[in-house]
Order: sequence, then structure tokens, then C-alpha cells
Amino acid sequence: MLPTANGNPQIGHLIRRLETAERPILFGHERPDGDALGAALGLMWLLRARGKKVTVSFADPVPGNLRFLPGADEVGNLPVDSHDLIVALDGSDERRYGAHFSRALDDAQRPFLLAIDHHKTNTGFADLGWVDSEYAATAQMVYALAKEAGWPIGEEAAICLATGCVTDTNAFATNHTTPEVLVTVADLMRHGAPLADIIRESLALRSVPDALLWGRILATAQIEEGVAWALSRAADRATLNATDGDGSGIAGFLRNVRGVQVAIQFVEQRDGQTRLSIRSNPSTDVSELALSLGGGGHAQAAGATLDMPLDEAVAHVVPLAKQLVTGARVADR
Ligand code: 5GP
Ligand code: MN
Repeated sequence: MLPTANGNPQIGHLIRRLETAERPILFGHERPDGDALGAALGLMWLLRARGKKVTVSFADPVPGNLRFLPGADEVGNLPVDSHDLIVALDGSDERRYGAHFSRALDDAQRPFLLAIDHHKTNTGFADLGWVDSEYAATAQMVYALAKEAGWPIGEEAAICLATGCVTDTNAFATNHTTPEVLVTVADLMRHGAPLADIIRESLALRSVPDALLWGRILATAQIEEGVAWALSRAADRATLNATDGDGSGIAGFLRNVRGVQVAIQFVEQRDGQTRLSIRSNPSTDVSELALSLGGGGHAQAAGATLDMPLDEAVAHVVPLAKQLVTGARVADR
């Protein structure tokens, strides 16, 4: 049997809202990743095939590794205008969707707001939310929605939805890779998604500045008491002409060092803030740590942005991560 919408009663209401809308606007989270873009663009193609006029809005541009997605060139930082439905995808709280989204939420006349998300830290900000952390990707939820609604899945939608499933499972290597997500992607391949190309484009290929930045960041790595951390300095990125998103993946790499339970990449921002990318191994859940720092995420992949400069952020967060690892070890006994 193909994966379904888990019999969730919300799903029928959600489908009705999508079926009756004529001009929906779809938002995904800031600094978009393959799942946010794959889910939003996948839903865009599905709804377009139903004759709807669909807008896709992201606060930040599409990163280079995801420009291959069909429809990527149509994504803009667009406000709610004459739309009759808002859909928020893959972001666990309302602050993740940028200024246009916040402005729309403050407007008493705004259209109905749906959310589709697989983050267990989701705050329930929508008028009607379908939130289920059993799904490996929000794109997998959009696929389940299409199946439940009986919508045909064209090649463009298949490529976008498969990309979301591929990137959020790191090409089926994470511990939330379920049989259902494999079956989903198998079906999307049958609908025209070229799996090997998607893995190479979205995860493997990198730019020259990105590759060189890895070297700079890894040179700062420290490992103590089961915690690894490394720094992406704004000055290094400027020297190499690298973007903010370059060097991402290093926390995932450091998590694989033997003995490491939690890996954190600190990304220095230009405005005195520091963004954290946190990864862990299954014995340690980092979602609560991220939540307590004002962010959110999954058990093994989470993040937050701290209103403090790089050195201060390291001094604040590393001890908390060490405590978390020590606590997990005690609990294991
Ligand atoms: P990444 O390290 O790839 O930026 O993010 C890993 C995970 O944490 C993703 O699921 C992402 O949505 C979540 N995440 C990262 N930063 C934030 C944040 O500031 N707020 C929330 N709520 N989630 C975040
Ligand atoms: Mn996701």
C-alpha cells in the first residue's frame, strides 16, 4: 500500500480548502532548503494542474543547489495581495516565514491560513494545521495529500517532491528514513523524478567558494566531551566570495566523528547575530535545546539564531550542549 495521510481527520478539511481556493499563495521558511522549496513548488504544480493561479513566496532567494527545481525562477519575496488562501510549509513557527508573512498575519482581513509541517516543535500558528513528525519531509506530506485527494502527479511536481524527500533524509541516510518515504520516492521516480540527478544536484555538487570555505571552517573545529563545534566567520566568507549558506553541512559531517554526539556550526552574521546549525546522533535530542534558544527543528537536526556575537554564542551554547550529552549518557545507564 502506498503511504497515506495517516488517516488524519484534518486532511479532508485541508483538501477542501485547497480545492476551493482560486488564488493561493504558498510560503516556505526563510533560507529555504530542499524540503521547503520542494514542498512549496511541488504543491504549486499540483494546484496549477487543478486550474489555480498559484504564487510561491520565500523571504530569501533560491540557493544555487536548488535552482534546478522546476518553477524555481518563479519564486519571489512576494506579499499577500489579492490571494484567497495562505499556505505555510515546513516552518514550525510564524517567525520563520519572513516579513511579508508576518504582515499578512497582522492583517485582520487576511485570507485563511493553512500549515503543512513535519516539525515536532510546530507551535500551531495556523487556522488549520496538519502537523505530523512521523513524516520524513513536508514534501512527503504534500505527496500523501495528492494521493488522498486523487490529484494527478506530473513530472514537475514529482521532481520537486522527490527533492524534498531526498534533502531532508540526506539521501535516505538519516534515522527518520522510513519505508514510507522510500515508497513515496519510488513512486515519484515512476512519475518522472530522476533520483540520481536529484541527489547529485541538491546534495553533492558544490561551488568553488563553498568547497574552499569548508577548509576554513574545518580548521576552526574543536571536539570536547562528545561535542564538536566549528565557526563560519563572516570575514572568511567575504574573502572567498562565499554566501551565507555555503559551508552548510559541516555540522552533519562533524556529527560523524567517532565519539561525537552533538555537532554545532556557528555562522557569524553581519548584524552581530549568530546562527546555529545543530546536528546530533540518535541518543541525543537537540530539538529542545534549539527551542530553548529561540529556534526549533527536529531531534537530530535543529537550529536557532542568537542575538549575540560569535564568541559569546560559543561560550553560551557549547556548555549547554556538553550538559545535554552528559545527561543523555547518565540516562542511558
Ligand atoms: P539547518 O541547520 O539546516 O539550518 O536547520 C535544521 C533544522 O532546524 C531545520 O528543520 C530547520 O527548519 C530548523 N531550524 C533551523 N533554524 C531554525 C530557527 O531559527 N527556528 C526554527 N523554528 N527552526 C529552525
Ligand atoms: Mn523539512
